[in-house]
Amino acid sequence: MLAAFLQGGDGGDGRAEELGRLDRLAGDGDFGTNITSALDRARQALEAEPPQDYRGWLTAVSRGFLGTGGTSGPLFGMFFRDLARCCDTGEPTLAEFSAGLTAAVATVQRYGKAEVGHKTMVDALVPAARTLEAEVAAGSQAADALARTADAAVEGARGTAALLARRGRASYVGDVARGVLDPGAAAAAIVLQAASAAQSG
Ligand code: ADP
Ligand code: MG
Ligand code: MG
Repeated sequence: MLAAFLQGGDGGDGRAEELGRLDRLAGDGDFGTNITSALDRARQALEAEPPQDYRGWLTAVSRGFLGTGGTSGPLFGMFFRDLARCCDTGEPTLAEFSAGLTAAVATVQRYGKAEVGHKTMVDALVPAARTLEAEVAAGSQAADALARTADAAVEGARGTAALLARRGRASYVGDVARGVLDPGAAAAAIVLQAASAAQSG
């Protein structure tokens, strides 16, 4: 799915536009274009210099986000940078990917100061990282573990609709954002669905 995003701006399926619509309801409306330009930048870098490995691929995605505005740009940039670090040696094992995800989420929280319940991407990322840790500890198969991780992210993202925002621009509008899904949490869930889809082929 992330690859679909990379193919053509928003993958041609309107998801970036939908994320932008959510940001218009509760923020400043630039989330869709922020995501699209980050992924466009990443795609150009990948085409100019095709990476040899996962780390190179994730680093290009990270740089695409780090070069983009909005609050989500640097946060996703640091997120993907930490994920890239988990794959020194080619394809990461499930345990390595889990450690990378946990580190990435901790970095997002360190910089953004958002906790679960603040109606941000953290609401999707924290349950996902915890679920994957538990799956690794239980010795689950990668495909099952990543599917449950994606489900946890989706459930966390869905839950943001009911929340009052405590971080980001949506926190400026108070009750207006109630009932609106947080676009950053939705995007984080899409990323984890992409990881799951990539694993299951
Ligand atoms: P901006 O508000 O600067 O326009 P974006 O539209 O790029 O930012 O991104 C908005 C998303 O960023 C929100 O949906 C939310 O998930 C996320 N976000 C905002 N502030 C924080 C924060 N402090 N910590 C984590 N995520 C945040
Ligand atoms: Mg915005
Ligand atoms: Mg903005």
